[in-house]
Amino acid sequence: MSDKDKKDNKDRGYADQTKISHAGRQYAVHGMVNPGVYHASTITVPGLEDWFAGTTKYKYGRYGTPTLRALEESIAELEHGHGSCLYPSGLAAISSTLLILLKSGDHLLMTDSVYQPTRKFCEGILAGLGIETTYYDPLIGGDINTLIKENTKVIFLESPGSLTMEMQDVPAITKIARAKNVITVIDNTWGGGHYFKPLDFGCDISVQAGTKYIVGHSDVMLGTATTTKTLWDSYRHKYLLLGQHVGPDDVYLALRGLHTIDVRMERHMKNAKTVAEWLQDRDEVAEVMYPALPGTAGHEMWKRDYSGACGLFSIRFKNPVRDAIAAMIDNLSLFGIGASWGGFESLVIPFDPTTYRTATNWPHEGICLRFHIGLEAPEDLIDDLEAGFDRMNAF
Ligand SMILES: *Cc1c(COP(=O)(O)O)cnc(C)c1O
Repeated sequence: MSDKDKKDNKDRGYADQTKISHAGRQYAVHGMVNPGVYHASTITVPGLEDWFAGTTKYKYGRYGTPTLRALEESIAELEHGHGSCLYPSGLAAISSTLLILLKSGDHLLMTDSVYQPTRKFCEGILAGLGIETTYYDPLIGGDINTLIKENTKVIFLESPGSLTMEMQDVPAITKIARAKNVITVIDNTWGGGHYFKPLDFGCDISVQAGTKYIVGHSDVMLGTATTTKTLWDSYRHKYLLLGQHVGPDDVYLALRGLHTIDVRMERHMKNAKTVAEWLQDRDEVAEVMYPALPGTAGHEMWKRDYSGACGLFSIRFKNPVRDAIAAMIDNLSLFGIGASWGGFESLVIPFDPTTYRTATNWPHEGICLRFHIGLEAPEDLIDDLEAGFDRMNAF
């Protein structure tokens, strides 16, 4: 930890690990260290005046219980925000946030490296509502200025980008957005809210697929949106109008996951670095896309803005022959072929950026792979991949 981090922690009170460890404890009762799992729709009030005044802390299940408050407040603290709203999936957090912020006639700037379902939401829902989306080069930095129009309401960032891992210059973009009164929303799933604090870098809202590192065990879908103090009242009001809600058992599991995010992410990072460095030296590999590694694209920016990295990175092949890549990944023992990430297990998926990019030209041919490095021993993962490369080369 740098001296600056130590000082920031001191100014905020306890260190992040300490806060994460004790997160939600304010809602625990009877000496227990975890809050209860309250199953509630009906919540009664003492009398008529209380009913009309609406001032009791809990009013109805959809508006939250102590279980939900414990997680909301813990996420807000993790992300250095004023408040957080919970959603039943990461995509629900993204789509609802865009619906809350945008209206007919508005213009949205969206990074070309965004998670593909976010792109599909813009095309499939926002376009029909009369909201125009322009995709921009994730590496645009301060030149985002040139794309801001009179009706530009929101700039959406995701850093590093899904699959291709471009690091965005978040402070350069948010500086311009603030000057022009444009709201910035960032998909902060890769940093888990733990290794990157977008609100400290000028973002207005940080959304996450809590499904990934917050839950951390591949068993719950969850979304979070954390806002600044300025946006909180209007955001929360509209969030409640949308009727979003997460069941208490899922909320409890997410809070349980959150308590260990520091140790889990640290190990994911260590394992991923070991495997990614090994891949960097393989003849078959043209590029490792993992900004935490020296010599990779975006490394300097990652070092400037992040305090760590997760276990997710991608690679590009020198000779991407589809059937040879299939021979490699179809028979891996420890890597499943599957979406999602952030759990304890290693995963791999194939992707081809040329099939979905619109604002930027992906200059390379063929299939790439995205790996999630789990908590297995990295030597075992490397052995598995080495056997995969043997199958690839024998093809
Ligand atoms: C998985 C993911 C989402 C969506 O989260 P879900 O919980 O699966 O809906 C959003 N953004 C990124 C970057 C993701 O990886």
